[in-house]
Amino acid sequence: MTTHHVPGLKPTNIILHRQNHQLKIEWNDGHTSFYDLNALREACPCATCRGGHEFMGAEHDPDLIALTPSRAYSVVNLNVAGTYALQIEWDDHHSAGFYTWEYLRRICPCENCQALRGADSE
Ligand SMILES: [Zn+2]
Ligand SMILES: [Zn+2]
Repeated sequence: MTTHHVPGLKPTNIILHRQNHQLKIEWNDGHTSFYDLNALREACPCATCRGGHEFMGAEHDPDLIALTPSRAYSVVNLNVAGTYALQIEWDDHHSAGFYTWEYLRRICPCENCQALRGADSE
């Protein structure tokens, strides 16, 4: 109970829909997020992916989730890392990315969250 990036905000349910190629996260504030798996792979927050990406600067851009992925990715394994993040193991053997709850919520592609992000970035 020591590591909380965003105290209070956490998923109550994490569901992998392999057929829809989606990850669904239900949050404890009642929000539900749907992530396209390909986009989620492209948004991997690890240093390697950030450094090797043509779009990447120091800050990860939430809009990256809307970009068209270069290939189709599958999830091999989902691990909840402690109390703060989701570790995703991909079929390209990449599993270095820790998707914190804060990050996942920040890149939520739903209309409401996109509108919120638009309001934030003046
Ligand atoms: Zn990565
Ligand atoms: Zn959302």
